[in-house]
Amino acid sequence: LVVLGIETSCDDTAAAVVRSNGEILSQVVSSQADLLVRYGGVAPKMAEEAHSLVIDQVVQEALDKAKLTEEDLSAVAVTIGPGLSLCLRVGVRKARKLAGAYALPIIGVHHMEAHALVARLVQSDLQFPFMAFLISGGHNLLVLASDLGHYIQLGTTIDDAIGEAYDKTAKWLGLDMRKSGGPAVEELAREGDEKSIIFKVPMKQHKDCNFSYAGLKTQVRMAIESKNIDAAIHVAAASEQDRKARADIAASFQRVAVLHLEEKCERAIEWAMKIEPSVKHLVVSGGVASNQYVRSRLNKIVEKKGLQLVCPPPSLCSDNGTMIAWAGIEHFRMGRYDPPPPACEPEDAVLDLRPRWPLGEELAQGRSEAR
Ligand code: ATP
Ligand code: FE
Repeated sequence: LVVLGIETSCDDTAAAVVRSNGEILSQVVSSQADLLVRYGGVAPKMAEEAHSLVIDQVVQEALDKAKLTEEDLSAVAVTIGPGLSLCLRVGVRKARKLAGAYALPIIGVHHMEAHALVARLVQSDLQFPFMAFLISGGHNLLVLASDLGHYIQLGTTIDDAIGEAYDKTAKWLGLDMRKSGGPAVEELAREGDEKSIIFKVPMKQHKDCNFSYAGLKTQVRMAIESKNIDAAIHVAAASEQDRKARADIAASFQRVAVLHLEEKCERAIEWAMKIEPSVKHLVVSGGVASNQYVRSRLNKIVEKKGLQLVCPPPSLCSDNGTMIAWAGIEHFRMGRYDPPPPACEPEDAVLDLRPRWPLGEELAQGRSEAR
């Protein structure tokens, strides 16, 4: 099997071609970093236009790099949710056009399931059941993956996700957002004293596995204001003293943001072991899983609990087409896919998009189930 994966759920336009043996034949990501810098976040209409501008090129490049043509493909996989519907639409249209023209089956993929499943591409002996901790721009999800398409949610965020807190911290600290906020905060935090400001760890009194990052964001903003840090002055242009103050805030924020992950993760492992004592692995994925500090802290917890951490390389943690193609392959193998769409689908055809799609909730109709 050779599957093309297309991803446009948020601010990256991505495509990849992957073989069912796990070989990544190509991976192309076009990021909207410049737009993010200009507008300080994702504006759906703008993001949709940016996706539309590059989608044909990104898919063509993925095919070219794989040295394949559309005719060599076995199927097309595309993110249908969760995400911004204006953005999802661009990828789904492209996937259906291509699948229609070349009579290819099409697989609608859950973006967060793909973040988790890509760990099975990286580590081929990773069997269900396993635990997954998905930390990204829009999600903080702790799940027990009992089988393909079957997820028991152990915890989620009640407001913001950790990636959002990293991005806002970066913006308020006047950091370079060109690579998104997270990596910039991680880098600056290395120069800081993580105990210089003691932020309050969120939700300590809640004996559950849920998260909250809105309060920590406010604490960080107040600390930044109290130190008179001007976000309009880029950190590279700041005085030595000002830079040190920013680094201290970055490090102190990161320590507490990750402590919150550690505490809830530890509890979730205990819960999961009660439900499925055979669990051996914890997958950490999503953009924030690229962070070295996050990885090493979570690794300690996971080892302490006698599990093994599986963390994909950064290029597979942040949004990418490979994870979509791979999730498509996993479902295709089980016979879960849709037949090729009509070759000439009208422009206004109703598309199956799931902008809000809880992980674990099955697709209701439209799928050919394995017989
Ligand atoms: P979701 O997956 O929830 O729909 P998304 O697709 O926008 O959100 P991803 O691409 O999976 O998110 O992750 C992007 C997020 O990861 C951003 O918030 C970014 O700041 C964060 N991130 C990326 N690298 C790092 C890092 N090294 N440290 C901290 N955060 C990081
Ligand atoms: Fe994502």
